Amino acid sequence: MAQLPADILDRFAAIIGEKHVLRTAGDMARYLDEPRKKFHGIAAAVLRPDSTEQVSKIMALANETGTAIIPQGGNTGLVGGQTPDDSGTQIILSLERLSKIRDVDAAQSTLTIEAGATLEAAQEAAGEIDRFLPLTLASQGSCTIGGNLATNAGGLNVVAYGSARDLCLGLEVVLADGRVWNGLNTLRKNNTGYDLKSLFVGSEGTLGIITAAVLKLFPASQSRATAFLAVESPAQALELLNLAQQQSGERVTTIELLPRAGLEFTIKHHQTRDPFGEPHPWYVLLELSSSQPGNELANNVENILATALDQGIAIDAVIAQSNRQTEDIWAIRELLPETQSYEGGSIKHDISVPLNRISDFLEQAAIAVVDLIPGARPVAFGHVGDGNIHFNVTQPVGADTNAFLARWDEVNKVVHDIATGMGGSVSAEHGIGQLKRHLMPGIKSDVELEIMTGLKRQLDPNNIINPGKLLP
Ligand SMILES: Cc1cc2nc3c(=O)[nH]c(=O)nc-3n(C[C@H](O)[C@H](O)[C@H](O)COP(=O)(O)OP(=O)(O)OC[C@H]3O[C@@H](n4cnc5c(N)ncnc54)[C@H](O)[C@@H]3O)c2cc1C
Repeated sequence: MAQLPADILDRFAAIIGEKHVLRTAGDMARYLDEPRKKFHGIAAAVLRPDSTEQVSKIMALANETGTAIIPQGGNTGLVGGQTPDDSGTQIILSLERLSKIRDVDAAQSTLTIEAGATLEAAQEAAGEIDRFLPLTLASQGSCTIGGNLATNAGGLNVVAYGSARDLCLGLEVVLADGRVWNGLNTLRKNNTGYDLKSLFVGSEGTLGIITAAVLKLFPASQSRATAFLAVESPAQALELLNLAQQQSGERVTTIELLPRAGLEFTIKHHQTRDPFGEPHPWYVLLELSSSQPGNELANNVENILATALDQGIAIDAVIAQSNRQTEDIWAIRELLPETQSYEGGSIKHDISVPLNRISDFLEQAAIAVVDLIPGARPVAFGHVGDGNIHFNVTQPVGADTNAFLARWDEVNKVVHDIATGMGGSVSAEHGIGQLKRHLMPGIKSDVELEIMTGLKRQLDPNNIINPGKLLP
C-alpha cells in the first residue's frame, strides 16, 4: 500500500504537536467509517488543529507537497464526503478542536462560531442570549457547523427558516494554498460583488476549509403547538400546509409526512401507541412556534385543525396537551429511521420534487420499486413542505438482506429517474459526496459542469482538497 513519506507526516505533526496527530489504525478508526458504513477509507493520519492559523499552515504544506486533505467535522454526513479513499496517502483534517464561540451578539442577533463546534453547542450559545438558531437535525449532538455549511444542511425547520445557506451571513475559509479569506461579515445587506460565502456553502469541502462562520439568529420561541394528523394522501398534507400558512403565517415551523408503514414499524419496535383508534394511509406532524408566550398558538392550531377536519383535508387529529405528549409525537417521527432498520435492509433516497408533484412522485415511485422488487416496502417520509422526501425502500419480509442491498443502484436509478423526470433533484439535503458523484454528468448540464470544474481548478489547482468527491 502507498504511504505518505514519514518526513512529510512529521512536518504536518510539527505544526500542531504530535499529541494532536492520530497515526494508528485504532486511534483513527472512528474517522474512517461513515454512519451508514457504505464507505470505509484508510488515512495516513488524522490531524486535529485548534486554530485557523494551524489550518492555514497545514494547507500551505499540503499544497507544497501535493498531499490530499479530507476535511471532516462530526463525521455524520450520509454520502461519504468526509471519508478518505483507500490509498492510505490522504490526511483527514478534523476540525473538531476548532470549536470556540467567538462572539454572540444580541444586538445584531448573530453568532460567530468556529467550524468544529457542534450544532447543539451553537444552539445552546444562541439560547443563552435568548435567541434561536433554527437549524435542527437529528444528528445535531455530533454534526458541526462547518459540516452543516459544507453540506448546506436542511432538516426540520426549512419550511420557515430555509437551509444552512439561508442562515449564514459570513465565513472564514482557509484556501488550498493556505491563504485565509476573512469573510466574517455580519451585514444583512452587502451587494458588493460575487457572494463568495454561498460558493463555499454546499461545496462539500472541495473548495476550501471553513474555519468559522457568522450565523443569523432569531427571537427565542416562547410557545409551540404540536399536532399529529391523519390524512388520506400526500396531496392533503400540502393542502394542510397551505391552510396552516394562511391561518398562521410564518408560525408553521415544521410539517413532516409519515406513511402508515412507518408508524407500524414504530408501534412494533418501540411499543409506541397508535395516536388514533384505526389505521390511516398517511400522517402529518405539524408544529407551530411563536416568539410570543401564551395560548394564542394553541388556539391557532385548534382552528387550523377544525377547518382541516371540516373541509375534509384531514381525517383525524390530535394536539399535544403537555410536553410529554409533544415528545411522544416527535418520537414517532424521530424513531422512524431506526425502527426501519429493525425490518432489515433499506435502500435510501433523498429526493426533492416540485411541491405540486409530490403525490405523483410517491405514487409512481412506489409502483416502480414494487414492480422491480416484488414485496419491497416503500417507507417514504420527510420534509414535505420542502418537497424533500426520504423515499426509503425496506426489503421484502424474509428476503436476504445482502441480496436486496446489492440492488441499491438499480433501485436508486428507477427512483431518481422519476424524480428528475418531474424536474426534481437526486439530493435534496445530503449532498453528492462519493455516493452520488457518478450521477453528476446526468444531472448537470455541460455548462454547469464546466463552471464547477473551472472554479475547482481556480481555487484548488493541485486538487488537494477532498479529491474524488462531488465532481465527476
Ligand atoms: C441521524 C442523522 C440524521 C441526519 N439528518 C439530517 C437532516 O435532517 N438534514 C440534513 O441535511 N442532513 C442530515 N444528516 C446528515 C449530516 O448530519 C449533515 O450532512 C451534517 O451537516 C454533516 O455535518 P458533519 O459535521 O458531521 O460533517 P461531516 O460528515 O464531517 O462532513 C460532511 C461534508 O462536509 C465536509 N466538511 C466538514 N467540515 C468541513 C469544514 N469545516 N470545511 C469544509 N468542509 C467540511 C466534509 O469534507 C464532507 O464533504 C443526518 C445524519 C444523521 C447521521
